[in-house]
Amino acid sequence: MEVAEKYCFRCASPLPPGAAHCPRCGAPTGIHYTAKPPRLRLTPGFAAAILALGAAAYALSYALPPLPASLSLEASTYLLPAGAAVLAAALLWRRGAPWAIELLVPFGAALVLFEHIMVFVLHVEAPPLIYAFKAGIAVMAAAAASWLMARREARILNVKPPLSRAPLALSLSTALLLELVFATGGAFSPLALERALLGLTALGVATWLTWHFYAPRVFEAYLNRSAGEEAVMLDTGVSREELGYQFTEMLLRSFTLVLMVFSIVILGVQVFAPQLSLSSVPDLVKVAKYSLAAEVLLGVFGPPAYWLSDALDLRVLDRASMTLEKAAPIEALDSMVDAFALLGFLLTLRDATLAITPPQESPAVYVPVAVFNSILLLFYFTVITLPPALIATALYHKYSFKRHVEHVLSRVKPTPLHELPSLLQPSKSWAATRRTAS
Ligand SMILES: [Zn+2]
Repeated sequence: MEVAEKYCFRCASPLPPGAAHCPRCGAPTGIHYTAKPPRLRLTPGFAAAILALGAAAYALSYALPPLPASLSLEASTYLLPAGAAVLAAALLWRRGAPWAIELLVPFGAALVLFEHIMVFVLHVEAPPLIYAFKAGIAVMAAAAASWLMARREARILNVKPPLSRAPLALSLSTALLLELVFATGGAFSPLALERALLGLTALGVATWLTWHFYAPRVFEAYLNRSAGEEAVMLDTGVSREELGYQFTEMLLRSFTLVLMVFSIVILGVQVFAPQLSLSSVPDLVKVAKYSLAAEVLLGVFGPPAYWLSDALDLRVLDRASMTLEKAAPIEALDSMVDAFALLGFLLTLRDATLAITPPQESPAVYVPVAVFNSILLLFYFTVITLPPALIATALYHKYSFKRHVEHVLSRVKPTPLHELPSLLQPSKSWAATRRTAS
């Protein structure tokens, strides 16, 4: 007899069949995991561990020699707000409002905007404001990570909690907040505001329109490389979750786009414009601008075709070897996005950090400043390039993606997997072609 696996939602211990309460912690078993839950779960205890780590780093900074002390102090300024955000996310997850975890992302962006308005627009001189900036970045990163943990757990819960509400509104408001951060950073002027709000939004819409009209063609062009073979579709079909229409998912997808385009632009600069120094900030700003233009032009060859391939999950039947292979139009692109983008990005980040960090007598001052500067650069690069990518990704998923999936299905006409055996019966014509071939 097969017994369905059940694990307690609160303490993750196995539940005996038919039990109404967990024998270990007493929690009701109405909501439970249907497979062994991951070791690292989104719990208040996990959040408490991050907070304790932050508090320990803060306390240790008084006992350590200067260099590790300053690094440990710097780490605590990120760990403490990140721990607080994970705690909030864990409580939302436990109390049945997991969709609200995502709201922490724009909340973090709002913290950064608050700091920018106080410092650069209102010229308030209060050094502690820098903690609002750091907290904002930490909260955004922690919120996205918490959401991913919640999604991983949600997949094995017996009831699927909604992980996203109003994803379009959340995406657009987050993009707007980041545009405002860009506009208020440094020299604030009405022109900067106009450039950020109108310029970046227009780029986002232009990118979406390019995808809307060309993405299915690009995907089919990739698929046609394996022409003459039958496309086979797994019987699981295309589910709504796989269509990825969730805010945090789109945020991560647009970040991948940003990294991909940036890496291609870096390569282009090294080949065609070697006079640009990637370690000087004005040139780096130029590169960010090229990246924006490339987002519209190059973006079409990457992400949407990749998302379509992901959602459709087609297999190609190779009749010669009688095997099913994953339709792999994107394999080369995928590895490029992963390895190449990250490496190029990190090297550039290092060069630029070294260029903007003034030399210091003491490494105890220099190292933490360099660490902070690299976070600053990463953040500003994201603030410039992410809003258009996020706007385009959100509009694409809302208005184009489902249509494109259906369009591709109607053109490619994949065979459902359960009909595969009849397809494998050697038809007369196929047997004939094989005789002539051999
Ligand atoms: Zn329990």
